[in-house]
Amino acid sequence: MNAPVLETEEHKALRAAVAALGKRYGRTYMTRVVQSEGHPDELWADAAKLGYLGVNLPEEYGGGGGGIAELSIVLEELGAAGSPLLMLVVSPAICGTVIARFGTEAQKREWLPGLADGSRTMAFGITEPDAGSNSHRITTTARRDGDDWILTGRKVFISGVDIADATLIVGRTEDARTGKLKPCLFIVPRDAPGFTRNRIDMELQAPEKQFELVLEDVRLPSDALVGDEDAGLLQLFAGLNPERIMTAAFSLGMARFALARAVEYAKERTVWKQPIGGHQAIAHPLAQSHIEIELARLMMQKAARLYDDGDDMGAGEAANMAKFAAADACVKAVDQAVHTLGGNGLTKEFGLASLIVASRVARIAPVSREMILNFVSHQSLGLPKSY
Ligand SMILES: Cc1cc2nc3c(=O)[nH]c(=O)nc-3n(C[C@H](O)[C@H](O)[C@H](O)COP(=O)(O)OP(=O)(O)OC[C@H]3O[C@@H](n4cnc5c(N)ncnc54)[C@H](O)[C@@H]3O)c2cc1C
Repeated sequence: MNAPVLETEEHKALRAAVAALGKRYGRTYMTRVVQSEGHPDELWADAAKLGYLGVNLPEEYGGGGGGIAELSIVLEELGAAGSPLLMLVVSPAICGTVIARFGTEAQKREWLPGLADGSRTMAFGITEPDAGSNSHRITTTARRDGDDWILTGRKVFISGVDIADATLIVGRTEDARTGKLKPCLFIVPRDAPGFTRNRIDMELQAPEKQFELVLEDVRLPSDALVGDEDAGLLQLFAGLNPERIMTAAFSLGMARFALARAVEYAKERTVWKQPIGGHQAIAHPLAQSHIEIELARLMMQKAARLYDDGDDMGAGEAANMAKFAAADACVKAVDQAVHTLGGNGLTKEFGLASLIVASRVARIAPVSREMILNFVSHQSLGLPKSY
């Protein structure tokens, strides 16, 4: 099932081990967590103990010394078991990567060991009410006050802020020479004065919640700025490629979970003389989903390989394509799975209907399918920029 060229024996062993952990929890556990408005703390702690949460972070700071290839395997396999951990996309993948690559030595020592062993988490906030797809329009601004920074602005749809120890906020500082605003990343502790959050009522059934954030003159020490003030965009993109690759892994896990439920059902359910899986109208769309999942995984593996090899530019195109393909494969797999189960597709007992909403997330976030089509039209095909 896995591409032998792209996955080593270690990768396969990691897949099998994470799948075994996922199986111990599965969809029943996640449903219970969501219904009790809780968090998947037990699964998080077990995954941490086994070294999965920080598998991509440097060994010298307590991580596993692997890359996004390994972390994406962890997320995909947990998702395929029905118990994905969305915070893996933000905490170790975006925030851990940005701090490991661009943070100061003090920031690395302060944050990476905790992110790696799961005892601390970090959320990531870039989206604003007037800057979703167009992140060039963000207005959250940092100004100097002596050695401190004062941060002001608003964010929306930021996941997991309630459970994260801090949020990596994308703001802008004013270039002293040109007056132009440039993106910069700040670590904002959860309890910083002036930093407030309101939960957004989403239709999603997931333990990770989304929040609107208000930053009202939030005073931060000078070392809250991650990395170099002048390298903002480069640092930001270093975190965004892992985010896209991990979103692909999230989608692939969900797609596999839904497809497996549908196949299982189609083998058993008999309405006429043979199980419904014997009708091509049921079997072919499931077969097509399987193909689409495998193809999307190949692109995800390519993106992860390029990224882990240090090719940020090459990884950018592949990560966007992988996220696009995986999100589409997921939406289709979930839709077909629900349909395969007939009325049972909409019951709580079979637990597939809520995935109809969840499967749409990766088509919108972190970058919508239209923005990826814009990127590919312009960057890959050289067509005129349309936006
Ligand atoms: C569950 C969930 C979790 C999230 N978690 C986080 C998080 O942790 N941190 C964070 O920073 N953000 C998060 N987001 C926000 C997410 O990244 C944004 O929703 C996304 O970037 C899209 O922005 P928007 O919602 O403002 O849509 P808009 O930008 O308003 O776009 C609306 C529609 O218009 C289309 N569109 C826009 N411009 C163009 C164009 N030029 N050409 C063609 N079509 C266009 C889009 O494709 C989309 O279909 C999350 C969102 C969700 C749903």
